[in-house]
Amino acid sequence: MARVMIVGAGGVGRVVAHKCAAQPEFSDILLASRTLAKCNQIAKDINSPKITTAALDADVVSNTVKLIQEFRPEILINVALPYQDLALMDACLETKVNYLDTANYEPPDVAKFEYSWQWAYQERFKNAGITAILGCGFDPGMTGIYTAYAFKHYFDEIHYLDIIDCNAGSHGQAFATNFNPEINIREITQNGRYYENGQWVEVPALSVHRPIDYPEIGFRESYLLYHEELESLVKNFPTIKRARFWMTFSENYITHLRVLEAVGMTRIDPVNYEGTQVIPLKFLKAVLPEPSSLAENYTGQTSIGCHIRGLKDGKELQYYIYNNCDHAASYKEVGSQAISYTTGVPAVVGALMLVQGLWKKPGVFNVEEFDPDPFMELVAKLGLPWHEVINGDSPFEA
Ligand code: NDP
Repeated sequence: MARVMIVGAGGVGRVVAHKCAAQPEFSDILLASRTLAKCNQIAKDINSPKITTAALDADVVSNTVKLIQEFRPEILINVALPYQDLALMDACLETKVNYLDTANYEPPDVAKFEYSWQWAYQERFKNAGITAILGCGFDPGMTGIYTAYAFKHYFDEIHYLDIIDCNAGSHGQAFATNFNPEINIREITQNGRYYENGQWVEVPALSVHRPIDYPEIGFRESYLLYHEELESLVKNFPTIKRARFWMTFSENYITHLRVLEAVGMTRIDPVNYEGTQVIPLKFLKAVLPEPSSLAENYTGQTSIGCHIRGLKDGKELQYYIYNNCDHAASYKEVGSQAISYTTGVPAVVGALMLVQGLWKKPGVFNVEEFDPDPFMELVAKLGLPWHEVINGDSPFEA
């Protein structure tokens, strides 16, 4: 039996709290976040004697250290924002508590996605004898575990990796993002980037796109984006010749985004508004719907997976592995939409791997560096079953 501390009471935090409460391995759960009322609402909805709540500004390391010392968790699950990653890792180091997150650190003042800041904690975590599991949501997360599973069971060498992410759901709003709007818009308005023959190739934002056929959904226009798991996957699978990430957006979404960008509403530098410094993207976040509020009327499915090509016994092999998740079913189960659900379930499974000692080794690791088998078995049981297609049609050229 283990004690788990969850930081962040947004869409993903709700799923993580629900799923942790249902696991006999967790005896006590502390849900801590900036706004106590949000923690209390989630705790009320779950109605489990295991859960307590606390207010926490996780940007201040000493606040988190104090709470950890009082609660004494075995693991801290960080589902606040990427800005808090380093402060929470510092607090875990100080208290010798294991750490897990679902998104890599981003500095608030520059939209930059890379693992360097968190990988720099490797020696300190190792010396402290604690584990940090980085990027354990769906993408990053399941996509890295799918790749590790494919490598373990099907390939001698992986050559081509295309991660495809489709949200074919409908929430009925004119414009909304499925996870934190600030983080989401920073990610999408960046230049696209992919890996080819040892180099990173940069393309203008949303300039490369193609229709991709998704299971049970059909063709959807999919845009090449940079996504953080590409960085760790090409490092951990050095035979990869090309790695790309594709995500679907509707015409309507792209049109709104282009207008918001053109008028300056996606800027992350401060603007003087009547004597007050305002960051336009933060203001935009304040007027957009909260991702968690989309859940109630969301219909349709997500479909996320990996198309992989490579060699087995000298022969070409093509492999596709994916999960489809239904928004309405997620809402019925835990009160969240499928984007939060597909992020929260792997985070809980990662925490279970750690407390069961299966994914426990001192240092800082991306998910593909652990044994994928026990994770894959459990994640299917906890709500994210997966499907494989071997040597089927691929939308991607070699
Ligand atoms: P939300 O914006 O819904 O929730 C974020 C939560 O973090 C809010 O409760 C917020 O508090 C809290 N928070 C923000 N700043 C602080 C702080 N300084 N101290 C304490 N709490 C804080 O986001 P989501 O739930 O959609 O996303 C959570 C995380 O999951 C993000 O890092 C996101 O990037 C990641 N993610 C990962 C995915 C994956 O597949 N790997 C997919 C989707 C999301 P308040 O309510 O007061 O603002």
